[in-house]
Amino acid sequence: MKAFVMKRIGEVGFMDKPVPEPGPNDALIRPTKGLVCTSDIHTVHGAIGERKDLTLGHEAVGIVEKVGELVKDFKPGDRVAVGAITPDWGSLEAQAGHSSQSGGPLGGWQFANVRDGTFAEYFIVNEADANMAHIPEGVSDEVAVYTADMMSTGFMAAENAQIPSGGTVAIFAQGPVGLMATAAARLLGAGLIIAVESVPARQELSKKYGADVVVDFTKGDVVEQIMELTNGEGVDAAIDALGDTKVLADCVRVAKPGAKISNAGYYGKGEYVSIPREEWGVGMAEKDIVTGLCPGGRLRMERMLRLLENGRIDPTPMTTHTFDFDELEEAFRLMETKEDGIIKPLIVF
Ligand code: ZN
Repeated sequence: MKAFVMKRIGEVGFMDKPVPEPGPNDALIRPTKGLVCTSDIHTVHGAIGERKDLTLGHEAVGIVEKVGELVKDFKPGDRVAVGAITPDWGSLEAQAGHSSQSGGPLGGWQFANVRDGTFAEYFIVNEADANMAHIPEGVSDEVAVYTADMMSTGFMAAENAQIPSGGTVAIFAQGPVGLMATAAARLLGAGLIIAVESVPARQELSKKYGADVVVDFTKGDVVEQIMELTNGEGVDAAIDALGDTKVLADCVRVAKPGAKISNAGYYGKGEYVSIPREEWGVGMAEKDIVTGLCPGGRLRMERMLRLLENGRIDPTPMTTHTFDFDELEEAFRLMETKEDGIIKPLIVF
């Protein structure tokens, strides 16, 4: 079969691999649609170290081709959504309620990390009964594919922020995760949603997903703008959807005492993250920083799919580009340069 791989740090391309054989609890999936993620680009640039001929990709939906003998709820021909995070549910971390960290920090992230990813003609899902979900009839593949990562991660960011009904939230960065956090904040009952973004197309989408105000950080100090919008009080919750130490510091600055600061961003640079000591209430103002990796699991996927099935949210305006599987190299290039207003490129198999 054909697979799109990371040949070594900084180099991608296609290669032939044997079709993998599912283990007793696994499923073999033939992907139909996929999405390229900015984290695929980080991986190629060495974020998780050297990988040789590792198949890339972790956001996919497809058709079940084959299942292991212990798989109960899926059969060949089923149309399924697969979580980007596929935990080992028997791990102690999963038993403790932290399934994304199964086996150690970020251990639930297996695709294109410790096992081949989804950008191939076939791929394996570990613990299939727990890590994938049936796609409801009225939900198309190009919509369902957003449940793998962008929706689950964005919604997690808003859930972890514990925004009170009618409360105020600031969401920094309106990439796909930030946009889904905005949509989630709206659905969860936020009373004032302040998004931070400078790119006009993303500002527009942000409003479509529920932002009441979009603050442009290139047009004045972000903290001042947010404080002004909240009568000097600050917000009940602040979300970092970028992964940047300046953004985290600003989240702390705009947070009210007792606020949750929720991070869904990837901190790929530097040795330390700094927190402004005084605005953090010298460590005593109950400004809690909550972190998380995309939650995986069938139950989670089913919830995300229900939102789609009943029209609560439409993620497809984020699909700015479409590429065939054999054009993945170009999709990766665009995702890296962020040219042409790209947000999410859909891959058609
Ligand atoms: Zn992703």
